[in-house]
Amino acid sequence: MNNKILTTISGSLPKPNWLAEPEKLWSSWLLQGEELIKGKKNAIKIAVDNQINSGLSIIGDGEQTRQHFVTTFIEHLTGVDFQNKKIVRIRNRYDASVPVVVSEIRREKSVFVDDAKYLRSLTKLPIKYTLPGPMTMVDTLYDEYYKSREKLAEKFAEVLNKEAKELEDAGIDYIQFDEPAFNVFFDEVKDWGIKILEKAASNLKAKTIVHICYGYGIDANIKWKNSLGNEWRQYEHVFPLLAKSKIDQISLECQNSKVPMDLIALLKGKKILVGAIDVGTKKIETPEQVANILRKAIKFAEPKNILGCTNCGLVTFSQDVANAKMKALADGANILNKELGL
Ligand code: ZN
Repeated sequence: MNNKILTTISGSLPKPNWLAEPEKLWSSWLLQGEELIKGKKNAIKIAVDNQINSGLSIIGDGEQTRQHFVTTFIEHLTGVDFQNKKIVRIRNRYDASVPVVVSEIRREKSVFVDDAKYLRSLTKLPIKYTLPGPMTMVDTLYDEYYKSREKLAEKFAEVLNKEAKELEDAGIDYIQFDEPAFNVFFDEVKDWGIKILEKAASNLKAKTIVHICYGYGIDANIKWKNSLGNEWRQYEHVFPLLAKSKIDQISLECQNSKVPMDLIALLKGKKILVGAIDVGTKKIETPEQVANILRKAIKFAEPKNILGCTNCGLVTFSQDVANAKMKALADGANILNKELGL
């Protein structure tokens, strides 16, 4: 195996405009029944082709079969009432109407395994699948049953681990848990967050990733980011704990962010997904801008431990913008690979 800097996206890609309303988060499906099932499959194929054509090295499904990165998974579990929702504050930032945990959480059947098998059939390149992280799942619900965030998270870790094992059996090489809540609830991360994430990721042959981020470019997140001051040091709380954990790879956002690059040094021994594509602007990065970010990153970690990535998902863009951003990511990594003789 060579030591080239590989590239991948953090997860979501735009959906085709015949499948869901484009350039919007959480938009509703425009198809129904059999048509919707077929449409989602076609969309995965398009997402895979676009990533391969852009030159990325690790390929995902672009999250084409889910409306929301957390609730679509939870919809497939028993124990959660989606009819009678309640209003809660998400990550201390914005109010949302959320489903309610009313009885024991169970996963009666696999959620994404068919999609994963289909993804495997489309490419020989390494493939990755994203799942929500337990703490972020807890933070997206109202709990009337367990009445303990830790206990509920533990339940979610059990079902996530079952799902992850089946994804791995379907041929998935990388399993990513999305835990934006790790950037907010520092005490909980320390007390139980890492331990329970490790449970979700336990006994897997697939490489495991945790994606922590500052979120999509929605107003509530932009406002929050503006309140964080000149340096964003949130990762500083979490990285030393993750460095000691069994999670293999950790992501952070670097393009147009105020995250000090030296925080990477806290992740000794881990692979680091360096966010080199901004998801808050339609402006396309140049390959040189991507290469610049990666150049900064290799001051604090060996190139073989660095991957080029997006700051977060690309779902809110048009397909043309997303494709151009992915190509800039791959081309930028290639500039550096050439420079380093990799
Ligand atoms: Zn994200």
